This record gives sequence, C-alpha cells and structure tokens, in this order.
Amino acid sequence: MNNSLEMGLPEKFNIAGLNGGLTVTFYCSSCDMNVTRDIYDVNNMELALKEAWKEARKYFNRCHECGAWVCDDHYNEDVMKCISCHPK
Ligand SMILES: [Zn+2]
Ligand SMILES: [Zn+2]
Repeated sequence: MNNSLEMGLPEKFNIAGLNGGLTVTFYCSSCDMNVTRDIYDVNNMELALKEAWKEARKYFNRCHECGAWVCDDHYNEDVMKCISCHPK
C-alpha cells in the first residue's frame, strides 16, 4: 500500500483478517517495537487503518526530518527527530 505515507501512517504496518474485523499492527521504523489494534465493523480498509492508527499513534513519535514514526527509544525528543537523523 504505497499511499500510506500520504495518509501520515508509518511505512511499516501489517493487516490481518480477524473474525468480523481486522487486526492492524504498526511498527517502529527502526526496530520491531509494535502496537496492535483490533478494528471491528469496518468494511473499508482505509478507514480501518485510520481508525487503528488514531489509537496506535500515541505510542509513536514522528521524526520532523524524515517523517518516520519511531518508538521512544529511537526518538530524540530534544530535537523532535529520530536518532537516525539526529543521534542522541
Ligand atoms: Zn524503535
Ligand atoms: Zn528521521
């Protein structure tokens, strides 16, 4: 799904079917840290993604340089960038 960045979503995520819904997992760009959300009663994949991300984004930080979403360990809060762009 190559429009994920336009939607402001992480580049790494996974969608799996669940009985009557979807399980969406978002990953840190730099490691395997992930957050999973179960979404029910959504027929539209894009809406399901947005809904899942609304909750999951609380656990991620966005780099203001490269746009990557990373976990706390890979984020330099002082400059609001990931540690690939600006090592601590
Ligand atoms: Zn990480
Ligand atoms: Zn970055």
